[in-house]
Amino acid sequence: PAIRTLEEIRKDFPLLEREMNGQPLAFLDSAASSQKPNAVIQKIARYYEQEHANVHRGVYQISQEATTAFEEARELARELINAPSAEEVIFVRGTTEGINLVASSYSRKFIQQGDAVLITAMEHHSNIVPWQMACEAQGAELRVAPINDAGELLLEELYAMLDDKVKMVALTHVSNSMGTINPVKSIISRAHTLGIPVLVDGAQAIPHMKVDVQELDADFYTFSGHKMFGPTGVGILYGKREWLDAMPPYHGGGEMIKTVTFEKTTYNELPHKFEAGTPDIAGVIGLGEAIRYMNSIGHGRIQEHEHNLLAYATEALSQIEGLRIIGTAQDKASVVSFIVDGVHPYDLGALLDKQGIAVRTGHHCTQPLMDRFGIPGTVRASLAFYNNQTDIDRLVAGVKRALNMLR
Ligand code: PMP
Repeated sequence: PAIRTLEEIRKDFPLLEREMNGQPLAFLDSAASSQKPNAVIQKIARYYEQEHANVHRGVYQISQEATTAFEEARELARELINAPSAEEVIFVRGTTEGINLVASSYSRKFIQQGDAVLITAMEHHSNIVPWQMACEAQGAELRVAPINDAGELLLEELYAMLDDKVKMVALTHVSNSMGTINPVKSIISRAHTLGIPVLVDGAQAIPHMKVDVQELDADFYTFSGHKMFGPTGVGILYGKREWLDAMPPYHGGGEMIKTVTFEKTTYNELPHKFEAGTPDIAGVIGLGEAIRYMNSIGHGRIQEHEHNLLAYATEALSQIEGLRIIGTAQDKASVVSFIVDGVHPYDLGALLDKQGIAVRTGHHCTQPLMDRFGIPGTVRASLAFYNNQTDIDRLVAGVKRALNMLR
């Protein structure tokens, strides 16, 4: 098929045609949640109109069709991350639930008093708090690997924090606040020399780059559907079978059992062992469609386009007097975060909103990272493959106009 132009691709996203405050919309907040293509919206509508029934239960045709569509989505997700088998692909509500599942279930079995969990200074709250809770419950210590002023991990310091007390390393693939791409493959390989498993928070990686969990040798890899052009309320947790088999169930209920008596319950096989209750069937099917859509654009094209746009935005914003970019790592994806001397990020964000430019301001669920930089928050513009140069030009002009009003 002919390669579609960016303008054609943008037309797949009805929300991008909206106005905001009487201006055409420049949507630069895809790191918080991306917009949805028609293919996904229609898939979900069609499911509810024609194909809805509960999965894995009914003998009747519609239930079997729903089950087939549901399991097709699992296979699409498996293929997306190159997981060895679909049984290692668990449907969860999102990255937050994926991390909570592992932190809760893994720690009950494998983390004891006096052990430690290692995270990093740039984690999202959802990759901090579940580990704090698990460490508190087990009497373990939470260690935090530091970063430099560019927002890059200090690898030697991180490696020095790994010892036989550490029972898990949990870190983000791409920082949601700075865009830093972490060298997760090297870190995983180093952790494995000590027999330590690694969980990777892939929420900000999957929408932007090709991820291969086997190549990374990640023990757990989790991400959210709504940041990758799919619906809210659904996400993926990949886990190596050896860990998932050894871990106790997270939620109890229907679907996750093999047999139940009041005396004893035996648990179902993977992936069902970790999928208690009726899942978000429409969400899963919509997520499958989002993967098909991303595949139709192609990861190579997505990566190249966003890389060029990020460089363009970084260059243009850097010209603005008093503007400081937070996160200047060598290896970055899709996010440009900044502060301006003497201007509160919120005021800047509000003036951008008036001009039809959607950015996020604040701590981006990374308060400890903001503390590390001694700032209350940033203005964050984040990209997806549907953004164009006009979006960036409008951001830059919008910031200049806002600063003229604020200064
Ligand atoms: N980790 C990172 C790096 C994120 O950016 C986010 C979403 N902002 C999350 C985890 C949490 O994802 P969700 O809210 O979809 O569970």
